[in-house]
Amino acid sequence: MAEERFDVVVVGAGPAGTAAAYTAAKGGLKVALIERGEFPGAKNVFGGVLYRKQLEDLIPDFWKEAPLERAIVEQRLWILGEDSAVTFGHRNYKYKEPPNCWTGLRVKFDQWFASKAEQAGAIPIYETVVTELLRENGRVVGVRTDREDGDLRANIVIIADGVNSLLGKSLGIHREWQPDQVSLAVKEIIALPRQTIQDRFNLDDNEGCTIELIGQTCGMAGLGFLYTNQETLSIGVGVMVSDLRKKRIKPYDVLEGIKRHPMIHRLIQGGEVKEYSAHLIPEGGFDSIPPLAGDGWMICGDAAQMVNAVHREGTNLAITSGRLAGETAIAAHAKGDFSAGALEDYSKAVRASFIYKDLKKYRGVHGLLASGDSEMLFEKLPQALNNAAYEMLLVDGVPKKEKQKIAFRHVRDAAGGNLNLLRLFLKGWRAMNG
Ligand SMILES: Cc1cc2nc3c(=O)[nH]c(=O)nc-3n(C[C@H](O)[C@H](O)[C@H](O)COP(=O)(O)OP(=O)(O)OC[C@H]3O[C@@H](n4cnc5c(N)ncnc54)[C@H](O)[C@@H]3O)c2cc1C
Repeated sequence: MAEERFDVVVVGAGPAGTAAAYTAAKGGLKVALIERGEFPGAKNVFGGVLYRKQLEDLIPDFWKEAPLERAIVEQRLWILGEDSAVTFGHRNYKYKEPPNCWTGLRVKFDQWFASKAEQAGAIPIYETVVTELLRENGRVVGVRTDREDGDLRANIVIIADGVNSLLGKSLGIHREWQPDQVSLAVKEIIALPRQTIQDRFNLDDNEGCTIELIGQTCGMAGLGFLYTNQETLSIGVGVMVSDLRKKRIKPYDVLEGIKRHPMIHRLIQGGEVKEYSAHLIPEGGFDSIPPLAGDGWMICGDAAQMVNAVHREGTNLAITSGRLAGETAIAAHAKGDFSAGALEDYSKAVRASFIYKDLKKYRGVHGLLASGDSEMLFEKLPQALNNAAYEMLLVDGVPKKEKQKIAFRHVRDAAGGNLNLLRLFLKGWRAMNG
């Protein structure tokens, strides 16, 4: 591959990179989209739920052709006790027209999305690893790849290389993520007949349901999930790496425990595990967002820690940040200015968007999870809530006033007393309302 010149080189064909490449190519720029996988999505992992709004901003009516699984009509939250659950949820058929979100499989979705960027004019360069950024006089001027003579020069490099972001690290804009800034997630895809899935989750054709799971993560900060696809279920759990290290528990063992839970087991039983995968999730939140632009470069998606773990949103933040980077690249080319000053418009656009505002709202969550209260938040309190619910609903002749006291005692004791419960409540409130 001889050294070639592009307006924009995008590194990584996940949702962030593809959105950037699509936008910039549609705006008439000469764009290269580089991906190390055999094809986009080949090795990418997510839960996963894809949201309409942010992709629709790029490709109107995309859902009429995109390979999506089921339109989500119901989202449930299960707080797990050892063999029980306190459940919340919302089902609403308004989520079908227009759809709010879908389940999806990255191996299909990423390929389709990248094909749209190619149709818009982006040049795909797959099975190619970007090994370093090319720099001259302090500014980024292109990338070096693992191909022979594989240097590509560009006015702007958009870095969308995901959570590990070796390129971000090479720029010195962030360190190696700390163990309390990332979760390790494991996921299985379990095949079941379509009708069995629909019967077990009370769904019609193409309707989908998601279940988020709190508890039964061996006292570690983490969440599980169970999502319905057309003919498979996606089940997984993500646990903070610092807790995994402390407890010396393998995430796969946590997932096996969740699969054995009586509420989960009956939903997945008889299914055949088709795929197993593992991936990191950025969890550092607002305070770990690095500088987003400099001379000749911008960074987006997971590489910039743009994940809202509270709402399990990441793809939509990735797509929006990619679009904003693409739009900034178009404006920079119109001005012929690729300096940090010109590309700072991208940071400003991110700051004005829901990405920044949502991450700011939950900025305290990282501190809450890293504060050493994992055991209480993810084991003792979920179990206590289940015990309290059991007590309240058990008709055994004990007067209700007495029952109420017993139920409250379960929760208070799990928190370590009234003061601790109040402290936790205030901490939680502040964390969720930064
Ligand atoms: C288990 C799990 C469940 C999740 N569930 C959800 C969910 O339900 N909904 C949701 O919205 N989000 C979810 N997320 C988060 C979501 O997957 C990410 O936020 C999103 O994929 C980020 O997109 P991205 O393009 O920034 O990064 P990625 O999707 O990671 O893409 C980065 C791409 O860059 C490529 N790459 C990396 N380095 C190089 C290199 N040097 N050269 C060339 N190519 C390179 C990679 O191969 C990859 O294709 C989940 C994540 C996990 C792990």
